[in-house]
Amino acid sequence: MTYPARDTVVKYPTGSLETDATVLHVEDLPDGRRAVLLDVTSVHPVDAGWPDQGADRAVLRSGAVETPLLDCIVGATDGDALHLGRDIPVGKGAEGWAFVVVHVVAGDCVLVEGDAIVAAVDAGFRLRTSAGHTACHLASLALNLAVADRWKKEPRADALGTPDFDGTAIDESLITENASTDTYRLGKSLRKKGFVTEGIDGDLPALTELINATLAEWVATDAAVHIDRDGDGLTDRRYWACALPGRPARIPCGGTHVSALGELETLRVALSTHDAAGTSVLTMVTTVGAAASV
Ligand SMILES: [Zn+2]
Repeated sequence: MTYPARDTVVKYPTGSLETDATVLHVEDLPDGRRAVLLDVTSVHPVDAGWPDQGADRAVLRSGAVETPLLDCIVGATDGDALHLGRDIPVGKGAEGWAFVVVHVVAGDCVLVEGDAIVAAVDAGFRLRTSAGHTACHLASLALNLAVADRWKKEPRADALGTPDFDGTAIDESLITENASTDTYRLGKSLRKKGFVTEGIDGDLPALTELINATLAEWVATDAAVHIDRDGDGLTDRRYWACALPGRPARIPCGGTHVSALGELETLRVALSTHDAAGTSVLTMVTTVGAAASV
């Protein structure tokens, strides 16, 4: 059994939805499904370390036969075995390891090593997920601006030079079709870093209004969005870059995005807090387009 010696080449950062590829490796998984590794792919896999954006919906096409993907995840191999997701024992870029996009298919899939196939992604799902991801980044920057006066100490700065509440307090980020849900822990460790949490519940309506006004302003600029990248391999560093007027922003990001903010049409957040085992948790739900205007 031979494993790829280098990272899978990924084309989704450029917006690619379909690519010709060669099957490099096929392997049965313990759960009865099968892993297919390609030299190159357009399919966005879910990341093990920061699983904010899920897998694309996609098929592997071989002649008239379409094999649907059941999942698409990041894996890694040292040449001896394939490790998946959270079971990868080394960090990205570890010497002697190849990080690969694992296309998970049914156990009766007929593809074999050496097959020439086309990896094709569901365009509508990709577009809606990309909108949700761009919205997520914008909302986090707008949230940072809205709560900037709540810092007593100077924390790290975000991509616009604002105190980075999002980067400091984020617990989980989940990107879905035309939406994202971000949760922030307003606990002791955040207060120790100098963030004032007192009275935030009462401030939520004003903060929501402020964030939505910032987002409307940004969307109206129709600023261009693109992905900067150090290379075309799965683990090469990539950045979301947005040409916001007067203050271009750049954020490390492995996901997919729209190409201009005008595609989002309308963008709105809803803020709420709840108590989780004695710690207050702030939730920001961001919605795009028709879903946001109701
Ligand atoms: Zn991102």
